[in-house]
Amino acid sequence: MAKILTHEPDRGSQTCGCQIQVGGWHNDGQKFCGDLKAPGLYFCREHNQEVLDTYGEIRMAPGNAIGR
Ligand SMILES: [Zn+2]
Repeated sequence: MAKILTHEPDRGSQTCGCQIQVGGWHNDGQKFCGDLKAPGLYFCREHNQEVLDTYGEIRMAPGNAIGR
């Protein structure tokens, strides 16, 4: 993970935007992945795999851009 954002990027952008889970009780603000989406995927490769591992499939709402 190269970049961390403190706000959710535009879903139509080329930014992964996967929300990063922050452990513990302290809420220091939301964090989102700032890496570029992998070509043909809705997330960067790391998070594409993470979502597949967690949910078994990738389901995205309309309006989400796919990596170029
Ligand atoms: Zn990511």
